[in-house]
Amino acid sequence: MQAELISVGTELLLGQTLNTNVKFLSEQLAFLGINIYFHTTVGDNRERLRQALNIATGRADLIVLTGGLGPTEDDLTKETLAEFLQLPLEIVPAELEQLKTLFKKSDFKWTDNNAKQAAFIPSSCILKNEIGSAAGMALKKGKHGYIILPGPPREMTRMFLHYAQPWLKEKFQNELQGVLYSRVLKFMGITESGLEVLLEDLLQQQKEITLALYAKMGEIQLRITTRAKNEEDFAQKIAAVVKEIKGRTPRYLFAEDQVTLTEAVAQLLLKNKLTLSTAESCTGGMLAECLTTVSGSSEFYLGSIISYANSVKTQVLGVSSELLEEHGAVSQEVGSAMAQRIRALTGSDLGVGITGIAGPGGGTPEKPVGLVYIALATPDTTICNKYHFIGDREIIRRRSVFRAYYLIWEYLKNILDE
Ligand code: AMP
Ligand code: MG
Repeated sequence: MQAELISVGTELLLGQTLNTNVKFLSEQLAFLGINIYFHTTVGDNRERLRQALNIATGRADLIVLTGGLGPTEDDLTKETLAEFLQLPLEIVPAELEQLKTLFKKSDFKWTDNNAKQAAFIPSSCILKNEIGSAAGMALKKGKHGYIILPGPPREMTRMFLHYAQPWLKEKFQNELQGVLYSRVLKFMGITESGLEVLLEDLLQQQKEITLALYAKMGEIQLRITTRAKNEEDFAQKIAAVVKEIKGRTPRYLFAEDQVTLTEAVAQLLLKNKLTLSTAESCTGGMLAECLTTVSGSSEFYLGSIISYANSVKTQVLGVSSELLEEHGAVSQEVGSAMAQRIRALTGSDLGVGITGIAGPGGGTPEKPVGLVYIALATPDTTICNKYHFIGDREIIRRRSVFRAYYLIWEYLKNILDE
């Protein structure tokens, strides 16, 4: 089975919006065992979209369109597809009612141009939009399948996973054989090349099961992929290799699949019934921001002081000014003191301190840009590590956050292992 993606939107052609929808959809369709041979992007223009549909229909079985589903004049994807297929668009009364109710609930003023969002090709499958107003549509005509999804990535991904993918699996049951399943293992505290060495023989031996390493910001991912009949069959097929990998990487493997680094750390904190607080200088609260992205973080995260200025380090956080004068703000001693002070102030079990030079200015030969101290104060001791990060300001700050995470994760993991 072959598919073509058509992204509709002039903003994509002008480079104002990065086309993230094709990335997501290509990946998703590949998982279903569908070959993608072409990505087409076209502006909000009826004639050119018609041409794109014509070409795609000639070379693909499944055509997935995103964008141009809204209420305004330049949203013309549905209309153009109907015209191209020579099928009518008809208002579906129940959908119209739902739209009007949605408008009322969100205090938006109803205007009649919204009605077209309730028009669909008869006999098509309406794809519900759970977080927006533009519903999608899927239909089969002859051997071809057509799916229309909204442009906004959050709406598109949700609609695809909840409604379009089940529709595809049902309508193309016979064509979709040997779906590709993947598991992602996530590692940190090790480089991509370091991990490659640890898993070298496995990476070289691969046949039916493929292993691929990807370096992402702050983590290394290993994707294990193979064709399988279903989830169960997949789990069985990869069990041996997963066990082998896990046996070799206990110090680095922190999560699988959708679980993020923050969630992995959060789970360990909850499991150990420990609380955490942070004192940040060069990261300006970035670690606190990340830690609070998971719902329920109030159960383990107490709070933070962004002690950016020395005066805040001394007067608010309570780091001694002698310490600051003697060693400087970016030092092992001050990093440790920050972690200990925030722990004492908030009464948390663990305290993290981060102090460093994010640059681009402010570096000296003794204390260059990228020098960061990250400390973890625990009930028993304080660890403070010194790092030299390379990269620009943003990268140095983000690496500091990831390293802080690693420090916390390693500590928690060790407690569990004991
Ligand atoms: P539309 O459905 O065409 O009105 O698009 C609504 C919003 O989704 C706009 O802000 C677009 O920039 C965004 N959007 C549309 N297509 C894509 C795409 N392929 N990738 C990322 N964003 C998109
Ligand atoms: Mg648009």
